[in-house]
Amino acid sequence: MITYRISRRDLEDLIETEKRGWLTRAGDRTEEFRRLGYYKEKSSIWSEVKPVYMRLQGSCKCAYCERKLESTDYGKGEQDVEHFRPKGGVKAWRMPKALKESGITPTKVPKDFKGYYLLPYHPFNYSASCKPCNSALKKDYFPIAGTYDCEGESPQNLLKEDPFLIYPIGDFDDNPEDLISFHGTSPQPLAADGHARERALVTIEFFKLDDANKRKNLFRERAIIIVALFTLLEKQSKSPNEEERNRALNVINGFLGSHAPHTNCARSFKRLYEVDPVEAEAVFESASQLICSIS
Ligand SMILES: [Zn+2]
Repeated sequence: MITYRISRRDLEDLIETEKRGWLTRAGDRTEEFRRLGYYKEKSSIWSEVKPVYMRLQGSCKCAYCERKLESTDYGKGEQDVEHFRPKGGVKAWRMPKALKESGITPTKVPKDFKGYYLLPYHPFNYSASCKPCNSALKKDYFPIAGTYDCEGESPQNLLKEDPFLIYPIGDFDDNPEDLISFHGTSPQPLAADGHARERALVTIEFFKLDDANKRKNLFRERAIIIVALFTLLEKQSKSPNEEERNRALNVINGFLGSHAPHTNCARSFKRLYEVDPVEAEAVFESASQLICSIS
């Protein structure tokens, strides 16, 4: 995961450019939910602004797994507008044993919790995410460490709930790259302890970002990036030809930009190469083997 920094005002400008009048219609719907005291509507309008999030997230990357998906012309069907905080109820997430044993305790979802009914149309409650991350994994789960607040209407203020998942869009939540980095193809928490470490561990587990069996394509894609990057980094640091070094640098920068797939993995690998080239070469060897062996 990486962050896509943007202010609310700039995001709303993008939304209005995409669909003039959408914010007003969205506001009217929110007022209706406020009057009812829960979320209910016959049909929704958030799909109308899906392209805004697709473009914002590195030209159509999944917000969570960083897979690159098809562009807005043909790719809308393979991405969901994901509600970060579920709108109509929150299901209890079954925490895997390993996380429980590391002392992480998610708050029990209150029995009558009706979901974040004032947030179905909040611009900072959306992301575009792939079907595996949203439909198969995230569903209506939202594990937190603090106290659930279904009346909350500001995602920024709702950080007081101590959510475990990281919201990658906007200008208020943690930068995922401050919490999660990669060693080779595997994501790892950066903090040694505390909520920052727990957020990283839960996010990695929740989206199965470190599950080489069930999400093997993530690993294959990361391995391909590492193999390509290693070759380029070698050329850029060792070639006697300046033009060749510059050409390698340009391509390296292409791998590190937010529009590239698996940017966090690529940036982590470049850092490793700079501080420990011997270990980077070992990671490159493993990645090469993975590409050959993965089915
Ligand atoms: Zn995904």
